[in-house]
Amino acid sequence: MDAPQLRSATSLENNRCLTCGACCAFYRVAFLSAEVDNQEGGMVPLALVLSIDATHSAMKGTHGFFKRCEALQGSVGRCVTCAIYSSRPSTCRNFLPGWDVHCHNDACNQARLAYGLQPFEDY
Ligand code: SF4
Ligand code: SF4
Repeated sequence: MDAPQLRSATSLENNRCLTCGACCAFYRVAFLSAEVDNQEGGMVPLALVLSIDATHSAMKGTHGFFKRCEALQGSVGRCVTCAIYSSRPSTCRNFLPGWDVHCHNDACNQARLAYGLQPFEDY
């Protein structure tokens, strides 16, 4: 992603991403095409991927002006889940959730603000 559980691993009850999902519907989610499941060792489902150049792919739905990853299920800011959580791309795995006390991520708050959600610094 030029940017969520959705992106981090934590207990479900403490996972604020599950009531957010803003970054999955705000940023382009790009990654190396080697992560796609038509490549040896790849896991990201080909059906949900768009090739953007010789070596890079993006999650379908995140490459245009209006962005929403096609793997995102539910309603942003209410209740969401990732349909391919266990095989999501590295971009998603590496995106730090701003609610985690061990990290700070302005990009998380920027996506939340775009959906009228409170940034975490204000909590
Ligand atoms: S914007 Fe932040 S809180 Fe919301 S889903 Fe993404 S990482 Fe989680
Ligand atoms: S693959 Fe999953 S975690 Fe990644 S952007 Fe799409 S819905 Fe979000």
